[in-house]
Amino acid sequence: MPDSDATAPQDSRQLSVLIPLPLAGPYDYRANGYDDLSDGDFVVVPLGPREVIGVVWGEGQGDVDPDNLRAISSCVSASPLPPDLRTFVEWVSRYTMAPLGSVLRMAMSVPSALEPPRPRRAYQRAAAVPDGLRLTPARQRVLEVLADGPPRDAADLRRDAAASQAVLTGLVEAGALEIVQLPPLLPFGHPDTTLAGPELSGLQTEAAQALSEDVRARRFAVSLLEGVTGSGKTEVYLDAVATALADGRQVLVLLPEIALTPQWLDRFARRFGTQPAVWHSDVKSTRRRLTWRAVASGEARVVVGARSALFLPYAELGLIVVDEEHDPAFKQEDGVAYHARDMAIVRGQIGNFPVILVTATPSLETRVNVERGRYRRVHLPERHGVAVMPPIEAIDLREHAPPRGGFLAPPLREALSETLDRGEQALLFLNRRGYAPLTLCRHCGHRFGCPNCTAWLVEHRFRRQLQCHHCGFTVPRPDVCPSCGTPDMLAACGPGVERIAEEVESILPGKRIAVMTSDNVHGPDDVAALVKMIAEREVDLLIGTQMVAKGHHFPFLTLVGIVDADLGLSGGDLRAAERTYQMLQQVAGRAGRADHPGRVLLQTYDPEHPVLTALIGGEDEKFFQLEKEAREFGGWPPFGRLAALIVSGRDPDVVDQVAGALGRAAPDQEGVRVLGPAPAPFAVLRGQHRRRLLMKTTRAIPVQPLLGDWLAQIKVPSSVRVRVDVDPYSFL
Ligand code: ADP
Ligand code: ZN
Repeated sequence: MPDSDATAPQDSRQLSVLIPLPLAGPYDYRANGYDDLSDGDFVVVPLGPREVIGVVWGEGQGDVDPDNLRAISSCVSASPLPPDLRTFVEWVSRYTMAPLGSVLRMAMSVPSALEPPRPRRAYQRAAAVPDGLRLTPARQRVLEVLADGPPRDAADLRRDAAASQAVLTGLVEAGALEIVQLPPLLPFGHPDTTLAGPELSGLQTEAAQALSEDVRARRFAVSLLEGVTGSGKTEVYLDAVATALADGRQVLVLLPEIALTPQWLDRFARRFGTQPAVWHSDVKSTRRRLTWRAVASGEARVVVGARSALFLPYAELGLIVVDEEHDPAFKQEDGVAYHARDMAIVRGQIGNFPVILVTATPSLETRVNVERGRYRRVHLPERHGVAVMPPIEAIDLREHAPPRGGFLAPPLREALSETLDRGEQALLFLNRRGYAPLTLCRHCGHRFGCPNCTAWLVEHRFRRQLQCHHCGFTVPRPDVCPSCGTPDMLAACGPGVERIAEEVESILPGKRIAVMTSDNVHGPDDVAALVKMIAEREVDLLIGTQMVAKGHHFPFLTLVGIVDADLGLSGGDLRAAERTYQMLQQVAGRAGRADHPGRVLLQTYDPEHPVLTALIGGEDEKFFQLEKEAREFGGWPPFGRLAALIVSGRDPDVVDQVAGALGRAAPDQEGVRVLGPAPAPFAVLRGQHRRRLLMKTTRAIPVQPLLGDWLAQIKVPSSVRVRVDVDPYSFL
């Protein structure tokens, strides 16, 4: 289509086009002869000096003089963005107050998927071997490998024939091989819903039936599938997945990224005879492209993914499962601040299909929604088979002080050595990476802080570095104090997992110890490798951070030691106690899964703390009631609403000015309180000075219009950023 700007009739159709950039709304364009475009179609439009891909977002709004309208350049032949996804994008933008274009960008995360798929190049033998072909051994191997099989792609052929690409190219030139194009190979297949899962127990069957009923009825409903680790929740929801698949719908299973292990995928493959489509930040670009397209075309029936999988263009989504619904990893903090669990529910409402929330330790929000009758609770009260929840005991550190320089109290040391002597495995949990959280000079008291952040540098002894866990700043660990110049006086204060490993090595020499943190485990594959080593008993003792709290099966693990149960109870975070409780309970759930009874020891200076007494007593309900009362009393979520404004910039004075102006313009009405501006807990982060304002309202007041009016009053200079976080989870 020619660029007919000059000649186009003025009355030609106008369309609204949304562009995946941080823009508040769509822009009008002239249809330019593309008169059969409909909502959701992808088009190329000019934007400033560039050409960009956007999505038709309705008829033109007519707010621009037609003479100044630019024209759509071309249309993209790809299936349109489905209507439900467009509705969802609008919903998420309205709720999070993120620009509409920024949310669209999440739904168009793979622009190259809009291009036609690249065929795979493969080789096959020519009908006849040309006369006089010089047959080297390598050439001969290639021809043999291809003798009577299907065409093979280059990589396979090079491997199987032990031949170089030059050999292949030479054979093509000589006319002995032909290149053919094959359709792209999908990294997943069509799930077989006729395969039987394990025979479910009575309660499991009831649970599965309740969930499947919603799926078949194709109605929106939220269920909480709750049960201790090992009670069979996964088996039960896979049953509902099978129902949805058999009913011709697509299914999304959301998992925290780190829980998306090959183990989980293998389990799926055993149940359905094929791998599901996988979606997370590490998926390589070719696979992303194929997956995005296959989700849109309906070829991909099941997607298992991290939170961003919510924004894929499902053709016929009929069920979302949110596994580990309590996990804070579902809240996205950067860019568009959204909570994937909450948005999954919105997605279900838009598509009119059920959503299943799965966990052993429901979030307070979800529990309250059950109490309010909005979600149905489906409970699996016991572990499958013989395994039982291990007893939890406190070690009062005031009575049982660890030996000088150590962090493990005598009763824990004893339990460790007995367990390992019996040939069983133990886990030590400490939610702190590195060797020591603080380094100081014993001569002058100098403490090593981060130059970019309000934070101490954490010593990583293995790497001989001091590192900031907020911005990644690192320096080699010096031998001499940079402040007073005294050599060899630097002391490590407090323990990290590396230091615990060192202590265990000294008290239990010769044992095989593995450390599991985000420093040495970089993704699901690493997790799987480590989990396999543990399952195969190549490790005696595992030391880890919250990463070990996920639902892995360790049948020979019979002792869990929690090094510092107080860590996290005193934080300023609204959900600190809840999170500690969940984490401790999850870690405790690692012990004694098979027919080996487990034991959990918990080191604390504060054994009377209500969180710990509830945990020790197994009084789930009591903890929940205490926590609920505290939140209700303070008007905190879910009994009130919160929204945060984070003002950041390089120049602290300008940041203060903007934050101050926002403070003065804060809404002043019944049921609304604004706290701040205050320096954010890490007042300087990555060199950005940060101030926070927190708006707290009663539940009846919707926060978005208030925020909108509030922000509209302030002119923000371009050197300063004001970020909105509705329902904040992180108070950093
Ligand atoms: P959860 O998801 O609650 O942690 P799983 O579904 O992973 O529990 O079940 C724990 C273990 O018990 C798994 O190995 C699972 O295959 C097994 N299991 C659960 N229910 C059954 C059943 N009805 N029959 C046989 N094995 C089962
Ligand atoms: Zn830093």
